[in-house]
Amino acid sequence: IKERGGSAISALTADDHERLNRKALIERRLIHALDKKNLEVLYQPQINLKTGDVEGVEALVRWQDTEAGIVSPDELIPIAEENGMIHEIGKFVIETVCRQLKDWTSRNIPMNVSINSSIREFRDKDMARLFMEHLTINGCDANRLTIEITEKFALEAEAEHSIVRQMKQLNQKGISFSLDDFGTGYASFRYMLLLPISSLKIDKDIIQSITQQEKMQKLINGMIQFGKSLDLQVVAEGVETKEQLELLRVMDCDSIQGYITGHPMTANELETWLKHS
Ligand code: C2E
Ligand code: CA
Ligand code: CA
Ligand code: CA
Repeated sequence: IKERGGSAISALTADDHERLNRKALIERRLIHALDKKNLEVLYQPQINLKTGDVEGVEALVRWQDTEAGIVSPDELIPIAEENGMIHEIGKFVIETVCRQLKDWTSRNIPMNVSINSSIREFRDKDMARLFMEHLTINGCDANRLTIEITEKFALEAEAEHSIVRQMKQLNQKGISFSLDDFGTGYASFRYMLLLPISSLKIDKDIIQSITQQEKMQKLINGMIQFGKSLDLQVVAEGVETKEQLELLRVMDCDSIQGYITGHPMTANELETWLKHS
């Protein structure tokens, strides 16, 4: 509900109504879906540009509901961050990934998995402990895990100390951290200064503009060299074309992830894909 002049409440437009209804439906159905574990995790390969090796996969949540239909992460995650259900989604993803890693390990399929985590989740002072608990319960090797954190939020001063401490704790247990959506946020320098980050992921919108202007190419090249000068692994996300790939190769980018090498896929599809890659 919007307020105008501090007192009068303006009427909601039809669009506002639709958005609020959709949000309410998603919230209601999400509780149900989490309870029934009706969400899914897909895996998208990340390829080393020099060796062609699969470095690992990124776990991406998927949700298709009988009433809400397909709810994309871009719609789902902001709502879940707002109402706190992000913690339950995070738990579901960690559990699913750990179970999958265990299965792959038992069948001699070595794999590293990145999971996305909202920095908001780390505001919870118990996040690191909960995270390690999930790993232990599910018999998961922390060294196989990377947590991708986005720089879409600034580190809030009050929460900063706790966030930094928890990430360092997890890092000491073997978990790596990657700075996601690099180039789109505003907090990157502070993040890089304080957090135990070992890789940078350049955002897909930036990568996709690589062929548009020469200035953009220079910017991306600068980002890659910047990451390297800090000894960070640089990953380009959202690579779709051969032209983009070749430019990134010339710029000495470490690895790529994108439709050109593989879409997000189920664990079974990934295994088939691995056999043919
Ligand atoms: P992200 O972490 O930047 O993930 C990359 C997104 O780009 C994914 O969208 C992926 O499917 C998509 N993508 C990959 N390759 C290409 C390509 O070549 N072209 C294009 N156009 N897109 C490509 P997705 O899966 O819809 O996820 C959107 C965002 O939602 C993610 O962005 C991430 O921030 C968030 N997200 C996804 N899964 C989770 C999760 O389990 N937990 C949390 N906290 N956030 C998640
Ligand atoms: Ca890596
Ligand atoms: Ca990511
Ligand atoms: Ca991104």
